[in-house]
Amino acid sequence: MSVFNVKSCDYCQSSIALGQRWVREKIYDPQSNGQDPAYHHFHAEPFGEQEESCWEKHQMEREIARTAMTATQWADLFERARCNG
Ligand SMILES: [Zn+2]
Repeated sequence: MSVFNVKSCDYCQSSIALGQRWVREKIYDPQSNGQDPAYHHFHAEPFGEQEESCWEKHQMEREIARTAMTATQWADLFERARCNG
């Protein structure tokens, strides 16, 4: 059995079966300047009991992380403004 070209999903850690749709996301790595880009792979369609695909869940988690970061920055700004005022 060949494992060549078998991808695994970076969200659910299970392998992406032949014929299943998937998306890839380039991994930003400042260390690998000009090297072969690395990718994360995700299931593009829900399967089993899922309501959202791994890709959609991954996007949502990233959005939550981004929002949380912004909230922290706002709190920081507010804190600084209050100190100056
Ligand atoms: Zn998956």
